[in-house]
Amino acid sequence: MTNFLGYKCSLCGAEYAPDQIQYVCPHHGDMGNLDVVLDYAAIKKAASPELISSSRDNSIWRYAPLLPLNLQGLKDLEGLMRVGWTPMYHADRLASSLGLKNLFVKDDGRNPTASFKDRASAVVVMRAKEINAPLIAAASTGNAGAALAGMAAATASKAIIFAPKTAPQAKVAQLLMFGARVLLVNGNYDQAFDLCVTASNEFGWYCRNTGYNPFTVEGKKTAAYEICEQLAFTNYQLPITKWIAPDRVFVSVGDGNIISGIWKGFKDLLALGWIDKMPKLMGVQSEGSAACANAWRDNTETITPVAANTIADSISVDMPRDGVRAVRAVRETNGVYVVVSDDEILAAMRDLARGVAVFAEPAGATAYAGLVKAVKEKMIDENETVVVMNTGNGLKDVKSALQAAGEAVVIEPNLQAVKHALA
Ligand SMILES: *Cc1c(COP(=O)(O)O)cnc(C)c1O
Ligand SMILES: [Zn+2]
Repeated sequence: MTNFLGYKCSLCGAEYAPDQIQYVCPHHGDMGNLDVVLDYAAIKKAASPELISSSRDNSIWRYAPLLPLNLQGLKDLEGLMRVGWTPMYHADRLASSLGLKNLFVKDDGRNPTASFKDRASAVVVMRAKEINAPLIAAASTGNAGAALAGMAAATASKAIIFAPKTAPQAKVAQLLMFGARVLLVNGNYDQAFDLCVTASNEFGWYCRNTGYNPFTVEGKKTAAYEICEQLAFTNYQLPITKWIAPDRVFVSVGDGNIISGIWKGFKDLLALGWIDKMPKLMGVQSEGSAACANAWRDNTETITPVAANTIADSISVDMPRDGVRAVRAVRETNGVYVVVSDDEILAAMRDLARGVAVFAEPAGATAYAGLVKAVKEKMIDENETVVVMNTGNGLKDVKSALQAAGEAVVIEPNLQAVKHALA
């Protein structure tokens, strides 16, 4: 593929050729996240909104011309074919309860392994094939690992996953079921992350770690493409020659790689002239894991680690691995970081399920909890087009779901008992 020009360090601006470097800029330890540099002129020649919007491929691969990958042979990889192109619902009932006119909920729980992470893992396994990596490793709170395990199974690749031993059972079941090697670390996500980097260096594995591997953002950016393309479809103006950027997008933030990826996606589209404006990115963190929000509030790019503690395990992170870009994504788009409590997250799980039939895990519902708070604090104009990203399916964490939904009553098998229960 000719559109992949190289990498640029997000901290010092150093540039690298595609085959010169694999993970982060060597000048800043683990923290120099690299941006993939694309040849926009070449992309413009090869593709257009009109061309892509006439594609019958309902997955992230409809955006192949915008990915830094050589995708010949992709058609053989059936299991990868359903990643992305997730539904975006017009959430009218939730909108009117909030006094908004145009609210959309995009449900990334509808990916093959039931989280947003499939976008990143699908792109990383394709990259691994390109560079003939024998084995892909990842540290994960659960979803990134499940996504890698699933995508590895789909492509007959080998994977090894490091997850904290406190990861929810359903996520661990996914890892094991897809046949990955699973190492449950007696420690937290941050320790699993560092161990995975060390072991990958020792054994020569290809490391998928979030943010550390520059291709994770390249997969995650596809959600931004879908938002703009799906908004264009809701307008019913055919042919589609431009896509439509919303006014705001709410995203939950742990490591900060999803919000960085979504930002990259909008930047790509703006650079190509396929949308007219940059949406305001609204980062939402749990108050128990708010390192990015703190840095944004203090107007600094120095991220101070926290001791993370939240029900939303997927965003429970001491030291965000993509923190600087995540702070910039919000600051440079004139967005806001919103911080919510675990109780607000549980309430958001109920609202999403009952208001738009989207069953979210706690970290997924966190984005909606952020919208509720932002509306309360009068940050949003009623006419704005707002998109809320749900990043993970509620079945991933049934224990939290029951905590949010409450227990069912048990009755004797007779009508009297029914009457009694309904009274
Ligand atoms: C990973 C994840 C997030 C947060 O993404 P980051 O890149 O870590 O900020 C949010 N929600 C769910 C369900 C996730 O799995
Ligand atoms: Zn650098």
